[in-house]
Amino acid sequence: MPNRHNGPDPEPSGRERQRLLAEVCPPGSICHLCKEPIEFGLRRWHPRGPSMDHLRPRSKGGTWDRWNLAPAHYGCNSARGNADLEPPKPKRSRRW
Ligand SMILES: [Zn+2]
Repeated sequence: MPNRHNGPDPEPSGRERQRLLAEVCPPGSICHLCKEPIEFGLRRWHPRGPSMDHLRPRSKGGTWDRWNLAPAHYGCNSARGNADLEPPKPKRSRRW
């Protein structure tokens, strides 16, 4: 039997994601990246609208656990990409 917990943390379904978003980023939240208020009631995926940012990026093993998620503007979140918010480790080379 395949065990889902052995692989990367599965993406939550749309409904679960909405629930998480409401919990992580309730109305009145401040974007943790630019420290400005997040706007609600905008069209979906609006750059000033709410999103969940992964403190540890998914590409680096970050999970959808509540503690790994912070409120952010959708625009700030996508601009950040997968930059790591944890204390930077010395880098020897860039992969681009
Ligand atoms: Zn922001």
